Amino acid sequence: MSPQQLRYPFSQPPLVGTTVTVAPGIKWLRMSLPMKLDHINLYLLDAGDGWWIIDTGMKIGETRDHWETIFENELEGKPVLAVLCTHMHPDHCGQAGWLCDKWRVPLYMTRTEYLYARTLSKLGAEDIAWTHVDFYRRAGIHDYSLEKAREQQHGFGSVVEPLPRAYRRLADGDFVTVGNLRWRVLTGQGHSPEHACLYNESLNVLLAGDQVIPRITSNVSVMAMEPEANPLRLWMDSHRKFLDQLPADTLVLPAHNTPFYGLHHRLRALLTHHEDHLLALEEACVEPKTALELLPVLFKRKLDQSQQGLALGECIAHLHLLMYRGQMLRDLDDDGCYRYHSIDESLPVRARPGTHTAHDGPLEV
Ligand SMILES: [Zn+2]
Repeated sequence: MSPQQLRYPFSQPPLVGTTVTVAPGIKWLRMSLPMKLDHINLYLLDAGDGWWIIDTGMKIGETRDHWETIFENELEGKPVLAVLCTHMHPDHCGQAGWLCDKWRVPLYMTRTEYLYARTLSKLGAEDIAWTHVDFYRRAGIHDYSLEKAREQQHGFGSVVEPLPRAYRRLADGDFVTVGNLRWRVLTGQGHSPEHACLYNESLNVLLAGDQVIPRITSNVSVMAMEPEANPLRLWMDSHRKFLDQLPADTLVLPAHNTPFYGLHHRLRALLTHHEDHLLALEEACVEPKTALELLPVLFKRKLDQSQQGLALGECIAHLHLLMYRGQMLRDLDDDGCYRYHSIDESLPVRARPGTHTAHDGPLEV
């Protein structure tokens, strides 16, 4: 995809502690993240008599101080009325508990995201079990140490404030009224289990969270807790649903990178990107290989330890979709690893839908 086909109407992102108005009644702000992906975009919706906060930032560093600066300078003397989290990842819901307590306001989230977040906040070292050892061994990692993994796990709770004890449920197709605007809830799956986006027709604006991001690809992973999941099928189906239900000229307000036009173009490019990866894996698996051996097929750059887990999860997600489509089989070898092999022997000479593209941006959390 050539980047010229997306258009970015705002050249400068807001400095931390300040906002940029991106549409009538919508302010864009940023918080820092302690990763290679160093920021998250958050939004304030003007309800007339107060503000709704869309996503919250992580429980880390000076996020709270930056929120206090925003409250002092950007709320025009009006209170916060509600907090809405698109999904349960820590950069999105990490400060929800603090914000809801501080303003004594409700949290809006889909049911699966809320319950998932509540569950993850309770997990401790003992929740890393033999099931993890099996999962990593089957992926080709033999030196996974349960003791070490338990020692190193910091837990969801270390980057997320305790969540509010009650929430208001968002569900696909619902409408949420903020001031004089009605926002339609559209859910997507694959990156997280029931991710909520909000679309307003009169402004033609989509609050996209991590569901559509212009420059980096959201992580879509199979993880030890659900080792036979097929999240890439859900992810690609969600892209088709968004293509079907939203106009091409929507202004997209994503949680990372910057607001953009070119929604359909981006969704199609992401579908092609994954189809290219699927084909590359099929070609690589003419000889049986483990998921670990297949990482260089999808990721050309060197991965550090923290990226390797996400990369492996994403590789397995692609392999599972190929298995689901009947294009890949796997066998458990004598070492307890799955070896994947493609079924179509004519693959190396088959036409490709596009060029193989490796991820080169940071992996999303
Ligand atoms: Zn996310």
